[in-house]
Amino acid sequence: MGLNYEEVVRLMEEHGQPPYRARQVMDWLYRRGVADLAAMPALPQNLRQALKDEGYEVGLPREKARREGADGTKKFLFAMVDGETIESVYIPEGPRRTVCVSTQVGCGMGCAFCATGQGGLVRNLTAGEIVGQVLAVRRAVGLRITNVVAMGQGEPLANYEATVKAFRLMGVEHGMGIAARHLTISTCGLPPGILRLAADGRQWQLTVSLHAVRDELRDRLMPINRRYPLAALREACLEYFLRVGRRITFAYVVIPGVNDGERDAAGLVDFCRGMKVHLNLIPWNPVPGVAFRAPSAAEIERFRHRLAATGLNVTVRRPRGVEFLAACGQLRAEELEGRR
Ligand code: SAH
Ligand code: SF4
Repeated sequence: MGLNYEEVVRLMEEHGQPPYRARQVMDWLYRRGVADLAAMPALPQNLRQALKDEGYEVGLPREKARREGADGTKKFLFAMVDGETIESVYIPEGPRRTVCVSTQVGCGMGCAFCATGQGGLVRNLTAGEIVGQVLAVRRAVGLRITNVVAMGQGEPLANYEATVKAFRLMGVEHGMGIAARHLTISTCGLPPGILRLAADGRQWQLTVSLHAVRDELRDRLMPINRRYPLAALREACLEYFLRVGRRITFAYVVIPGVNDGERDAAGLVDFCRGMKVHLNLIPWNPVPGVAFRAPSAAEIERFRHRLAATGLNVTVRRPRGVEFLAACGQLRAEELEGRR
C-alpha cells in the first residue's frame, strides 16, 4: 500500500513480469481496494508466492474500534503495523461521502485549542498509511468515497512528501479515481509548503487555518505564528492564489470573547484582500482540559453576519461527531485520555 505506478512497474520488472501487470496491480490496490494478495487471482500463483516470501502484503490499516453517530458520521480508530493508532472520520452529507484522514500520529504544532496538539508529534504517517485510511473506510462502509480532506490528526504540510504521494494515489491517474477538486489539504499555515503546493497540487483544494488576524493573539493560539507571522502567511497565500488562480478557503475557529470581536472581523476583511476566498467559520468544539467556551448559535451568527455584511463569502461548518469526540480538533482526545 502506498507504492505508486512507477514503483509497481519496477517491482513487476524485478519479477520478470510484463508492464501491463503493473496496471493490474494498481487497479486492484486503489480502484478496487482489494485487501489481500490472495484476492488477486489473475496474478500468477508463483508471482503471488514470490511477493509473499519477500514480505509483501497489501497492508491496510487495521480497524481497532468504531463509533457511529445518529447522522451517519463514523469515527474509526486504526492501528498501524507498529501499533501506533490514528483516527479517520467518515462524513456522509447528501451526495457527498467524505473521509477525513490523518497525516501524522499526533501533531507537533501545539495549537492551544486543539486536542491533537496537546500530545505532541509521535511520528509521520507513510503515504500508504494515509491512502490506506480511505481504502479501509471505503471497505468498512461499502460505498464509493467522493471526497477526501486531510483534516484529521497532524499537519499535512509538515509531512509533505507522504501527503502529496498519497493524494496522487487518491486521484484519477493510476489511483482511486477521486476528482482533484474533491481532495482538500488543510494547513495551519506553513508558507514554504503552501508555495510548494502551488506547483505540485494545483487542482487540489487548499484550506488555511487562520483563527486569528492579530499576531499577538495568533502567537498565543498557534505557536507556528511565531515562526511564520501573519504577514508571511498572507504573502504565501497571495502568491498561491496568483499562481494557481483557485479560491483559498480560510478556516476560522470561533472562540467567543477571544477572536470574534469587531476588530477581528475588520482584520479578516483586510487579510483576505486581493484573493478570492471562502471563509469557513468553525464553532470551537470542546477539548478536555482546554479552558475555552464553545460559542452559542447566536454568537456564531452574530460574527457570521458581521463578516457577510462586508461582502465576504462566509459559511459556518456544522459540527459532526461531537458526541464521540470525532469533530474538528477533537481527534486523539480519547487516546490521550486513556494514557492519563
Ligand atoms: N493541521 C491541519 C489539519 C488538521 S486540523 C490544520 O490545522 O489545518 C483541522 C481543522 O480543525 C483546523 O482548521 C483546526 O484549526 C480545526 N480545529 C482544531 N481544534 C479545533 C476545535 N477544538 N474546534 C474546532 N475546530 C478545531
Ligand atoms: Fe496540529 Fe492542526 Fe491541531 Fe494545530 S489545529 S495542533 S496544526 S492538528
